[in-house]
Amino acid sequence: MTLTEKILARAAGKAQVQAGENVWVKADILMTHDVCGPGTIGVFKREFGADAKVWDRRGVVIIPDHYIFTADSKSNRNVDILREFVKEQGITYFYDVIDDPQGAWKFDPSRGVLKRQYGRRYAGVCHTALAEKGHTRPGEVLFGTDSHTCMAGAFNQFATGIGNTDAGFILGTGRLLLKVPETMRFRLEGQLEPGVMAKDIILHLIGQIGSDGATYRALQFDGPGVATLAMDDRMTIANMAIEAGGKNGIFPFDSRTAEYVEARTRLNGTKAAYEPVEADTDQQFVFETTLDLSKIEPTVACPPDPGRRKAAKELGHIRLDRAYIGSCTGGKASDFVAFARVVRGRRVSIDTFGVPATPGVVRDLQETYWGGRSIWDLLLDAGVQMTENAGCAACLGGPVDTFGRMNAPLKCISATNRNFPGRMGHKESQVFLASPATVAASAIEGRIVDPREYWRS
Ligand code: SF4
Repeated sequence: MTLTEKILARAAGKAQVQAGENVWVKADILMTHDVCGPGTIGVFKREFGADAKVWDRRGVVIIPDHYIFTADSKSNRNVDILREFVKEQGITYFYDVIDDPQGAWKFDPSRGVLKRQYGRRYAGVCHTALAEKGHTRPGEVLFGTDSHTCMAGAFNQFATGIGNTDAGFILGTGRLLLKVPETMRFRLEGQLEPGVMAKDIILHLIGQIGSDGATYRALQFDGPGVATLAMDDRMTIANMAIEAGGKNGIFPFDSRTAEYVEARTRLNGTKAAYEPVEADTDQQFVFETTLDLSKIEPTVACPPDPGRRKAAKELGHIRLDRAYIGSCTGGKASDFVAFARVVRGRRVSIDTFGVPATPGVVRDLQETYWGGRSIWDLLLDAGVQMTENAGCAACLGGPVDTFGRMNAPLKCISATNRNFPGRMGHKESQVFLASPATVAASAIEGRIVDPREYWRS
């Protein structure tokens, strides 16, 4: 069996499963957020009754992150609905925006969008927060009401996005009927060249198979090249499995996985025990390819979908209005570090927005010093507009007052993960997806460029 099949077999209580088989799977974690949480709660109450209790109050993780720092009252209210449900159910893991469990969330635009407006428990973008808070454990099953839930496959976990109806059913039962996906294997060899990033790997692969090339399939990334990738890199790659239509993305377990998971579960008091899976020697794949990482070049996905692959060096004629670094895919500390390596001591020439994925990333950037100056300050020096209000922000467009949202038909290069029409706001805007290094170099020049000539280790 493949990695995905091994996890699903275990979760179904079976010795063996095969691709195409329908199995009832036990959930370890169900994650929801402010956009889908209220709807999921509505389904749960409608189907299981107003007084029903969730199947496991420690298995439900609720992370408001999407439409948070906006004066839109309906969006603010969604966070309050989550808080009321958490209180009613006694749910353990709720990463609230405010500290007062009796309070109500209201964003105050008069305090500006740049200074933090959240409390101590707020965790930022759900997928990055799940990992930071020790909820992404090897060998487990994670369902989330968000398509990029597949990011947790970096941790040798089966993780996939589901709709509100399925999530409401899991709240009541802790189980879901699932078709075991076929597995596509991506064997990674070699090592990336300086200035080339994990984002380039996944943009390259999606360009190879197309944005529907892995529909309802598991993407298994393995081979000796995996050992060269940090956990943040694996998260970037697994995150975008859905951009090829994948059911999930998954990596093998190794010492880097163990080190990351053990540190996060210890820090946050989440469950420490886990049981990773190893693939069998007789795995069956529906597709196999090998990728030499040393041959990957800085890659860009052109609008209107993540499969429109071009080498960055081919796109020098594309003039840009805006650059954006942030999101679950591109807003991790390592993403900002790569960005800072390029812009340090230089100035961006177009509007450039930086949105850290989590408060932890804000702290890392503000407390890490290069030559007497914090990375945060170096980014400000370069002209990047940085907000402490970590979250999804303009990755998904959001209400019109969202930081970095494209309210006009602009061209933007972005470290996010999706570029369908209207994704970041205006429906005639254009989003070019790229690595943080490519976004940084392009922000300096005001046009798309290969970042390698700017790269400083
Ligand atoms: S950062 Fe973007 S892709 Fe990630 S969860 Fe938020 S809206 Fe979705």
